[in-house]
Amino acid sequence: MTNTHEQKRTVDAVVVGAGFAGLYMLHRLRGLGLTARVFEAGKGVGGTWYWNRYPGARCDVESMDYSFSFSDDLQQEWRWTERYASQPEILKYINHVADRFDLRRDVTLETRVTAAVFDEATSRWTVRTDRGEEVSAQFCIMATGCLSTAQVPKYPDLERFKGKWYHTGNWPHEGVDFTGQRVGVIGTGSSAIQSIPIIAGQAAHLFVFQRTPNFSVPAHNAPLDPDYERSVKANYADFRRQARESRVGFVVERNDKSALEVSPDEREREYEARWRRGGLGFSSTFTDLLISKDANDTAADFFHAKIRSIVRDPAVAETLLPRHYPLGTKRLCVDTDYYATFNRGNVTLIDLKTSPIEAITPDGLRTRDQSYALDRIVFATGFDAMTGALLAVDIRGRGGRSLKEKWAEGPRSYLGVAIAGFPNLFTITGPGSPSVLSNMIVSIEQHADWIADCVEYLRNNGCMAIEATVEAEAQWVQHVNEVGHLTLYPQANSWYMGANIPGKPRIFMPYIGGVGVYRQKCDEVAMKGYEGFRLK
Ligand SMILES: Cc1cc2nc3c(=O)[nH]c(=O)nc-3n(C[C@H](O)[C@H](O)[C@H](O)COP(=O)(O)OP(=O)(O)OC[C@H]3O[C@@H](n4cnc5c(N)ncnc54)[C@H](O)[C@@H]3O)c2cc1C
Repeated sequence: MTNTHEQKRTVDAVVVGAGFAGLYMLHRLRGLGLTARVFEAGKGVGGTWYWNRYPGARCDVESMDYSFSFSDDLQQEWRWTERYASQPEILKYINHVADRFDLRRDVTLETRVTAAVFDEATSRWTVRTDRGEEVSAQFCIMATGCLSTAQVPKYPDLERFKGKWYHTGNWPHEGVDFTGQRVGVIGTGSSAIQSIPIIAGQAAHLFVFQRTPNFSVPAHNAPLDPDYERSVKANYADFRRQARESRVGFVVERNDKSALEVSPDEREREYEARWRRGGLGFSSTFTDLLISKDANDTAADFFHAKIRSIVRDPAVAETLLPRHYPLGTKRLCVDTDYYATFNRGNVTLIDLKTSPIEAITPDGLRTRDQSYALDRIVFATGFDAMTGALLAVDIRGRGGRSLKEKWAEGPRSYLGVAIAGFPNLFTITGPGSPSVLSNMIVSIEQHADWIADCVEYLRNNGCMAIEATVEAEAQWVQHVNEVGHLTLYPQANSWYMGANIPGKPRIFMPYIGGVGVYRQKCDEVAMKGYEGFRLK
């Protein structure tokens, strides 16, 4: 791509990552007349959709929502084929965006940023890469992704496994054929739930190793309805406005009733209607599902009955019932035939709660009770979410203080976009912003726009640097925490809480106040001359 021509060593901004966030950020910076370099570890652009090529990988926000809104021509021209876009289609879309807006010439691929060091005298960042490049930039913008650091559990004997193993988040580009293989899938989160039905269709036998059962709603995916497409495109501006003002970045039919105030019959009807519609809107069936445990229990009961009605073996169904955390407090999954897959003769569910994995062996793996012979192991074990990719870079702010040190007790950030002690550094969809609780394209565009406006303001006002104050940051962290604890979310051992990573501080990382409310707060801060920031 762009590794051939003479690259600039001094630019206005370095952007780390070339997924949706990095590419749009580059587009905005160029629009301001700034020079920028984007570094991307992968061999291609696309981020999540470049790396996650596992069978069944698909978006679970609908296509007409999960796409850029910044160019009306783009959103009018592009045609999605399905209600929920598949990974190959999203990757094609991002590549189209990169070409259409001529973004590639400033993107350096196959290059990982290893360090970023702030120099107080010049108010500039020195950014270093694993290829030995060093670039000086006034602004350093981390577009490194919330779910980009694949997490393989540390099994000491994995090296000795004679078969092949994969992580869903780093899938071979040539694909994997499981025909005739004995396959073990470890994990039952979103990626596992998407891939299990497809792997089961190929494998001689599939063993699913489950630690925590998840709630999964049917997708009811289908070709995109042309009438729906036409109606959205006719009103796209308004459709996008509503998404920006919404709670989660797309419009969900809301019901303002409590699950506890309606009759059991009405409750059942409402849940059934949402189940039939499919998708993430299920957790909005009633207004109090994520704040009242009693209300939530009614939804969980509905789910349990559904699972029992789909899965024929009662013992398997019982093992699949999520029981120990409220519905929706771990990311709700969206599937095609997940539960029904356990009716297949070639699928075995293993409950790791009662019989944990003790070791990976040369021939497969051993739980406390049994050994399993496997040819292939698929780790669907998720990511070091939200902070993993940021902390993998040696970021040093004022006084040489490292971000790792600052975040030792958990992430601290002002608005999830800026960090006290780290001037001119921005984090797109960082911890403390709605990010993973939203349609992320909406949140990405909002952050990139806010950052671009901020940079423009600094330039117009002759400022060299901007830095969040410790006080503003502390107040925001407290607010994020308080709002999080008004909900049931902190009750789950989820990756939102850092609970999937041994030793990671347990803090509810995203901001749950809602995408619309959050946008207003960010806009107010800007309108007040960047309240809570110190400008130099
Ligand atoms: C399987 C899966 C399904 C998802 N489904 C949905 C969904 O339905 N709806 C939704 O809203 N979101 C979904 N997401 C979240 C998804 O990550 C975002 O929607 C979006 O793609 C994030 O874009 P991004 O550019 O912020 O980050 P990413 O797409 O993660 O891109 C970050 C890029 O930064 C690069 N990078 C990281 N560190 C460095 C470094 N040090 N040096 C150089 N490059 C670096 C990475 O290689 C990566 O390519 C899903 C995520 C996954 C994993």
